Amino acid sequence: METSFQDNSSDSQSKKEEVESITSQNSNDNELLDLPYDTEIVESDHAVSATIEGRRIFDVAFLVEQLKTFGHHSEGLFGCSGNNMSFQKEIRRGSCFELVFKCDMCHKVEKLFSEPKDESYMDVNTATVLGNTCTGQSFSQMEERYAVLNMPSMSSKTYFKIEERLQKVIGERALEEMKEAIDEEKQLAIKRGDVDENGVPLLTVVADGSWAKRSYKCNYSSLSGMASIIGFHTGKVLFIGVRNIFCLLCTLAEKRQIDTPTHTCFKNWSGSPNAMESDIIVGGFQQSIPMHGAKYIRLIGL
Ligand SMILES: [Zn+2]
Ligand SMILES: [Zn+2]
Repeated sequence: METSFQDNSSDSQSKKEEVESITSQNSNDNELLDLPYDTEIVESDHAVSATIEGRRIFDVAFLVEQLKTFGHHSEGLFGCSGNNMSFQKEIRRGSCFELVFKCDMCHKVEKLFSEPKDESYMDVNTATVLGNTCTGQSFSQMEERYAVLNMPSMSSKTYFKIEERLQKVIGERALEEMKEAIDEEKQLAIKRGDVDENGVPLLTVVADGSWAKRSYKCNYSSLSGMASIIGFHTGKVLFIGVRNIFCLLCTLAEKRQIDTPTHTCFKNWSGSPNAMESDIIVGGFQQSIPMHGAKYIRLIGL
């Protein structure tokens, strides 16, 4: 049978004091520091709301695990259960959130977290940015999508901060992958006996480029282009390069005649868009011997 704070017995009174002491320890105002999310979120993405609406993303296994003990905090003293937990507020950082509840019986505060606090766990904000990167989308698309879904999202500042970190990780991993692919091509060439008089592996490669803008065979004015060199026998990318003619921040600073702000500038080309592809591929060929100890001896163009 449930026991409430209105009981007058001395036994009940001592239990009440015990629980109030626990409650006061757990209801401090530091929830914002308590969040199980990565450190990339900017302060402006902290939001506290006394009402809750719309949709959310949460780790379903983690939520089920939390619900197993949710509300059962009094160890039978007051018979508290999930039914006694009243919603108090939601604390968000981007799409990560925690829900704060308070027990109607003993006033104990409990929280449900949207996902685990674990360094090896990719939080929903980072996963959102990575998903956008993988599908060629950016902040605006995410904002629109989340608005339609009626889900909270992160600010542009947070988004671009996470994106910058991911770019570094993706770039480093791509370099590792390309190095592994070249080693694999070299081993296959040695196995075939396809080596020169000094034992340097001779590779057959495929190369092709692409522009950010469709040319329709008459308008070759893309501001950005890329090209890659692929190992013929493995089908894996050995080299990739990008050339950009345009940088928004540099252009704006030039137009406004102000100092260019500190930024990661991707502008690295001032020649014709037509020459981007050949420049990248030549660069890849030039690196083959000094960097990888292999010769791209046969080129298949597409
Ligand atoms: Zn309780
Ligand atoms: Zn720039």
